[in-house]
Amino acid sequence: MEQRHEARRLEVNGIVQGVGFRPFVFQLAARCGLKGEVANTSAGVSIHIEGAPESIRHFERELSQSPPPLARIVAIVSRPAPPGHYPDFRIAHSRGESAMATLISPDVAVCGDCLAEMFDPAERRFRYPFINCTNCGPRYTIIDDIPYDRPKTSMRHFAMCARCRAEYEDPLNRRFHAQPNACPACGPQVSLWDDRGNEINSEDPIRQAAELIRQGRILAVKGLGGYHLAVDALQPAAVARLRRRKLREEKPFAVMSPDIAAIRAYARLGPEEEALLASIQRPIVLLAKADPFALAAEVAPGNRFIGALLPYTPLHHLLLAEGFTALVMTSGNLSEEPIAIDNADAFARLAGIADNFLDHNREIYLRSDDSVLRRAAGETRFLRRSRGYVPVPVFLKRPLPPVLACGAELKSTVCLTKGSQAFLSQHIGDLENLATYEFFQQTIAHMQRILGLRPELIACDLHPDYLSTRWAREQTGAAVIAVQHHHAHIVSAMAERGIAGPVIGVACDGTGYGPDATVWGGEVLVADEGGFERAAHLACVPMPGSAAAIKEPWRMAVSYLQDAYGDAWPDLGLPFLEQAGASNVRIIREMIAKRVNSPLTSSLGRLFDGVAALAGMRSRVNYEGQAAMELEMAAAGEAEQSYEFALEDGVPIRILPAPIIRGVVEELARRVPLPVIGARFHHTVVQVFAEVCARIGRERGLKRVVLSGGVFQNARLLAGLIPALEARGFEVYSHRLVPTNDGGIALGQAVAAAAQLKKA
Ligand code: ZN
Ligand code: ZN
Ligand code: FE
Repeated sequence: MEQRHEARRLEVNGIVQGVGFRPFVFQLAARCGLKGEVANTSAGVSIHIEGAPESIRHFERELSQSPPPLARIVAIVSRPAPPGHYPDFRIAHSRGESAMATLISPDVAVCGDCLAEMFDPAERRFRYPFINCTNCGPRYTIIDDIPYDRPKTSMRHFAMCARCRAEYEDPLNRRFHAQPNACPACGPQVSLWDDRGNEINSEDPIRQAAELIRQGRILAVKGLGGYHLAVDALQPAAVARLRRRKLREEKPFAVMSPDIAAIRAYARLGPEEEALLASIQRPIVLLAKADPFALAAEVAPGNRFIGALLPYTPLHHLLLAEGFTALVMTSGNLSEEPIAIDNADAFARLAGIADNFLDHNREIYLRSDDSVLRRAAGETRFLRRSRGYVPVPVFLKRPLPPVLACGAELKSTVCLTKGSQAFLSQHIGDLENLATYEFFQQTIAHMQRILGLRPELIACDLHPDYLSTRWAREQTGAAVIAVQHHHAHIVSAMAERGIAGPVIGVACDGTGYGPDATVWGGEVLVADEGGFERAAHLACVPMPGSAAAIKEPWRMAVSYLQDAYGDAWPDLGLPFLEQAGASNVRIIREMIAKRVNSPLTSSLGRLFDGVAALAGMRSRVNYEGQAAMELEMAAAGEAEQSYEFALEDGVPIRILPAPIIRGVVEELARRVPLPVIGARFHHTVVQVFAEVCARIGRERGLKRVVLSGGVFQNARLLAGLIPALEARGFEVYSHRLVPTNDGGIALGQAVAAAAQLKKA
C-alpha cells in the first residue's frame, strides 16, 4: 500500500538555542512519528521532517503553539524539501561557523522541576543552590561572548563531573546542553563571611545566614545580576538601620516573599498581578498596600504602594524557606551607585552597610537589576526593564542600519539595533557618577560583543552636558545625531507599538533639553520618526536655582505663585510659605524677578511638584519625582470638576498654568480636603491635554495620539487621559514593552536618528 509521504524543511528564528529547543523538537518528532533531523545553525534552528502530511501539520502546530518555556520564536519558514530517507529522527551536529544571528535568552527563575529536585532529600542536588536546567537559570548575566557555550560563560571555571556531563550530552535529559549545569560535586559553592572578610565556617551557610537575618542583621546576598541587601521586613529596627547605612531616607524598599499567600499579608493583588509575580521573569511588581500592613512601616514610609517579588534563584528559595514572611531585598549599593557584582568590589563597597555576606564563586559578568512593573490603565507597564527581559529585543516594523543610542541621563539604558530588532540594555542607573559612567561604557562594549555589531550611527540626547552625549561626541568611525528628548520619548512609543507618523505626541515629562534653551517637559508635538513640530506646550515659568528647584519643590510653588499673582501677592495664608521662611521666600522671588540662575521650564513634572508643595505635602524631595508621586497617591475619588484653565492660541499653543494655580490656592484657602484637590488637579491636566489634542487633531486632520514621558508613570493621569482622548475620537498609543520614563528613551533615539539619517 502506497502511503502518502511528505518532506519539509523548517527554519526557526528567535531565542531557540540554549533553551532546550532541539530536545523538544526531537521528542515532538518522536510523538508525531516523523523522521529527519534538527540542528543549530548560525541563524537559529533548522529542522528536516518527513512522514505523513497530517503528522507534519500536527508537528508544525505544536512547534509554534507550545515551544519550551524559554524559547521565543520570531519566525518559522516552512518549505517543501526533497525526501532524505532518514532511518529515524536525530539531533545533528551544529552547522555554521557561529551563532551570530541567534538571540540570547534572558536570565529566568528556577523552574518547578529543579525546585522539586532541590527539596528532595533523595536527590544528589538536594539543597544545592546552583541547580538549573535548559528551562531555567542564568543566561545573560554569565555570558561574556558568543556563541552561547559553556567556555564563553562564567561556568568555564567549573569542569562538569561524569554524572553532570552524561546529563549534558543526553538529548532526552532536561539538562541536555544546559550550559550552567552543575552539582555539589563539581559546581559553584556558597560561603558565609563577616564584615571584616573572615569566612565563617558552617555546615549550612544558607541556614546560618537565615539565622543572622532573624537576629536583625543586614546580609549582603549574591544573586543573579548583582548583590542584594537583605533584612527581615518584619523588624523595624533592622529596616531603619539599613536605611541609615544605605543613605536612603525614604525611597521604598522592595520585599521578597516565599509565595503569593505571604504577599497577601501586606498587599492587595488581582489575578494579573499574581500572574506577573509568578512569571518566569520574576519582576518586582508594585502593589497597593493592604490595611493593616503586616510589615515594618519603615519598608515603604509614606507610600500607598509596596514593591514585592517572589524568589527567583534556588538560593532565594532556600533562604525564604527558613520561615520568613518577607525579606527586604534592595540592590547592594550605596544610593545612586551601580549594584555590586564582583566579590572583592562587594566587600569594599558594602562592608560599611552589611554585617555579613552570603557569597558564592560563580562570577556575574554583567550586572542586571531587578525589573519593576505595575498595572496601570488596564495594562502591564514597565517602570524598569532589566533582569528577566533583557536582552529580548523589541521587534521593529522595518530594518535599520546598526545604530547605538546612548539614552539620556537618569534611569539610563542604551539601545543597539540589528536589522529589525532593537536591543535595549539592562538598567544602568543615573549617569551622575564615575561608577555608573563606567558601567555605561561596559554595557555598550558588552552588547556590541554579544550581538557581533559595530554601530554605523550613534544617537544621543540634545543636552550637550549629559555624560552620555559627551561619550557619543568622543566616538570616531560613526556619524552622531542628537535627538530632542521628547521627540525621542514619542518615537520610542511609536516604535514599540509599530506605528509610523504623523501622530500627535503628548510628552509629559520632568526634564528635557529644548532647542530654544528652555527646559521642556509639557509638550504636544506633531511628530513622525524623523522630525517634529512643537504644536503646544505648557507656558514657561522660571526654575529658581535650576537643579535646586527639582530637589526643593517649594521653590517651584513660589515660581507658580509669582506667575499667577504677579509681584503683589494677596495674603494667601499658605502654610508652606511660613515653613519655608519669609526671608527664603523673598530671596527666591528676587531670583525670579532678576532672572538669576532661573532657567525657564515648560515641564509638567515641575507643575506637579509645585502643586504638591503648594498643598503643603512636601517642600523637599529625597528622590526625583517624589512630590509628584505623593500628589498622585493623595488624590482620591472621581473628580467631576476641573480647575479653570486657559489656552493661548498660536503656534505653538500655550497652556497657561496661572488659572489652575489660582484654582488650587482658592480651594486650599477654603480648606477643601487634599484628596479632592489632588483628584481635581489630575482631572484638570487630563482635560487640558485632551482639549489641546482635540484642537490640533481638528486642524491637522490627525487621529492618533501617542503618550510618553516620565510623568505617565502616574497611573491616575494615564488612566484618565486615555479614555478622555478616546471619547474625542482618537486612537491612543502608550507604552507596553519599554518604560515611559527615560529608561525607554534610547529606543526612540535609535529609530529617530536612523530616520533623520535617511532624510539627510
Ligand atoms: Zn530547571
Ligand atoms: Zn556535577
Ligand atoms: Fe524624559
